[in-house]
Amino acid sequence: MTNVELDPRIIAIRESLKDIGNTIVIMSSKGGVGKTLISSLMALSLSLKGSSVGLLDLDITNPSCHLVLGINISSIKPIEEKGIIPPIIHGIKFLSIVFYSEDKPLSLRGSEIDYAIKELLAITRWGKTSYLIVDSPPGISDEALDILSYLIDPRIILVTTPSPLSIKSIERMIVFLKDSGEKIIGLIENMANKPTNPINKICRDYNIQYLGNIPFDKYIDNCIGDINCIKTTLFYRSIEGIMNKIT
Ligand code: ADP
Ligand code: MG
Repeated sequence: MTNVELDPRIIAIRESLKDIGNTIVIMSSKGGVGKTLISSLMALSLSLKGSSVGLLDLDITNPSCHLVLGINISSIKPIEEKGIIPPIIHGIKFLSIVFYSEDKPLSLRGSEIDYAIKELLAITRWGKTSYLIVDSPPGISDEALDILSYLIDPRIILVTTPSPLSIKSIERMIVFLKDSGEKIIGLIENMANKPTNPINKICRDYNIQYLGNIPFDKYIDNCIGDINCIKTTLFYRSIEGIMNKIT
């Protein structure tokens, strides 16, 4: 029996996640490659198509999905009733540590981050939800790996840019995840105006689905926080294309 199975909070986590259909974790080997934008817009796209969807921001030290979706955390408090009921915003059941940290900087150490992740997972009442999109911290840190071990049947979407510096690190991450038996849905190439050869080669070499490229969108930053503006962007249209492939 592993430590994970011995922890009573894991039993609580399994209970609170049991009615979730698909858990999709957005991961990358590096920061700043677009995970938060992609997670948030995937959740938005699922919601606008009528799916029941949750978005969980597990980048505990740098939560930012609320900024993308324009969620004013000071005016919303999740209802506490035998746990926490995630508020529904833009049709998305949304939960993030920011509801409790109030956007103040959180300087947590490893064990405190782990505690916060477990606590959020254990106390949130998602209810029946078809998709849970999880935004995660970058890299194959303990934190990122612990998240995978706590979730039920997580499936990973990897994000990379075509930068030569990213290529080696995403390759390393793929090897690591595959060796650990994790399930990878596929890879998104962000900030690439067209699919590039090196990333396509990685997908072929490791038998990973190339889910699509998202072009560099010079308008996306102006739309952060405004979903009506976001819906008009090339970035959002690219996400819709990718979602059509995987749902
Ligand atoms: P991560 O969560 O991986 O750290 P973010 O989603 O926070 O990355 O994105 C970081 C920043 O990168 C965004 O605020 C945006 O400025 C920029 N960015 C990401 N993808 C694109 C894109 N396709 N076009 C233009 N800018 C992008
Ligand atoms: Mg992020």
